[in-house]
Amino acid sequence: MRYAILDCYTDEPAGLGVPPYLGTYPRYLAGALSMQGHEVFYLTIDDLRLFKYYHSRAPQQRMKTNIRIRNISPNFKLIENILGTIHELIVVAGIHVPGKYLSAIPGVLPEIVSLLQDVKCRKVLTGPAGSVHGSRLEGGKHAEKADLSIFDEINENYLEINNYLKVEEYAWRGAFIVKQHPCYPDFLMAEIETGRGCKTATCSFCVEPFKKLQYRPADGVLMEIKALYELGVRNFRYGKQTCFYSYMNGDVAAIEKLLKGARELCPEIKTLHIDNVNPISVVGPKGSEITKLIVEYCTPGNVAAFGVESFDRKVVKENTLNCMPEVAYKAIKIINQYGAEKGYNGMPKFLPGINIIFGLKGESRHTNEENMLWLKRFLDEGLQLRRINIRQVAVLPGTTLGDDPKGGRELRKNKRFYWSWRKQIRKEIDLPMLRKVFPKGTILADIGMEIYDGNHTFGRQPGTYPLVVGVNKRVDLGRFYSVKITEHMLRSVTAEVLA
Ligand code: SF4
Repeated sequence: MRYAILDCYTDEPAGLGVPPYLGTYPRYLAGALSMQGHEVFYLTIDDLRLFKYYHSRAPQQRMKTNIRIRNISPNFKLIENILGTIHELIVVAGIHVPGKYLSAIPGVLPEIVSLLQDVKCRKVLTGPAGSVHGSRLEGGKHAEKADLSIFDEINENYLEINNYLKVEEYAWRGAFIVKQHPCYPDFLMAEIETGRGCKTATCSFCVEPFKKLQYRPADGVLMEIKALYELGVRNFRYGKQTCFYSYMNGDVAAIEKLLKGARELCPEIKTLHIDNVNPISVVGPKGSEITKLIVEYCTPGNVAAFGVESFDRKVVKENTLNCMPEVAYKAIKIINQYGAEKGYNGMPKFLPGINIIFGLKGESRHTNEENMLWLKRFLDEGLQLRRINIRQVAVLPGTTLGDDPKGGRELRKNKRFYWSWRKQIRKEIDLPMLRKVFPKGTILADIGMEIYDGNHTFGRQPGTYPLVVGVNKRVDLGRFYSVKITEHMLRSVTAEVLA
């Protein structure tokens, strides 16, 4: 039978599936369906938008790239035939970590429902949006509301894609679907899963503590990487886990197997990065050893994203966050000690990044003072941060915050301050930090150009939280360039193209 997977993109505390990333769900689904002998097509929500809103004719994009329809899959030319002949459409969707993206816009539930009204086949909703937590693209709000009755089934574990015994085979068998992705091969980042659930904390806003803690065996992970590599994928991120250092409960040999194994299997790998790290694991007894392994085997530009969320002790306690400020400080020092050196592509090898969330319980004006105090301390002491992510909390049902009748109270109370708090961090921390980490004249290699905005072109290296680079002229999209940094914006740099 014929099946289509409609990727509306996913973003979770552990796991990214927004282009250029291809998340795990479409790949596992493709594996499961192909094992049953079905024909499988991959489509993106951009395909569907172009088909429905623009009648398959992309409007002229002379000045600014329309990122709602930028990620068109090779299957687009067959979309009418695919939608008219499939037996089932499996929709992958769900944002649990609201964000903004350089070159894509995930589908929100009301939009997805409206686009699928006249698609006549069995429809299934899976991915994070198929869970009790729902989905929310914008921070500072409750879960999206939509009439989901058009779906015949809503199941986050459809075809048992969350069952690691099944995933062992689904993962490598589903690798073939990468060839149908819009960013394949050069820009595509394959998000790789190593575990689920959270070992170290029960943060009030987070969905991960509700998952059973488990890890994928390294052999299965490496078999999947090998299958992807053999198909031409060159960029990988160990990103679908809550803490990379906690893999197999912090087993150094198992972590080394993942890292060294990927390098041995993929001699021409371009990117090997990680994502989430809990600072508490970095300051633990094996933290330095694991840090050294990451620096040795990963490629430069790597970031340990620390979910600090707040440096205000009251907020940390009230939301049962994963670390106090002193722990984050020590962890930042350790990563800097081993990772701050620049690598061959112009990026520091491995730096910490910090996530901050506004709207948590116990938040007050004092919270911003504490955040600034600690961030200034890092800056003054010469510690480098790759980036600071600031967002307003999404209050999702089924989380401690979402189920608390008073959850979200601080959001309403403090919303008027957020713009100025954010601006203060951007101006007083981000900008000087960017100047320090990437002084004028720094040469960066492998900047893949993705979008136009007027006479400017924006791109970045494939990777985890890559630095956005703007060039003051229009150069070819879809190509890689070396650039020299000429100026600093609050969170990005401008540069001139060298080659
Ligand atoms: S540390 Fe907190 S935010 Fe991070 S995965 Fe665990 S519960 Fe979620």
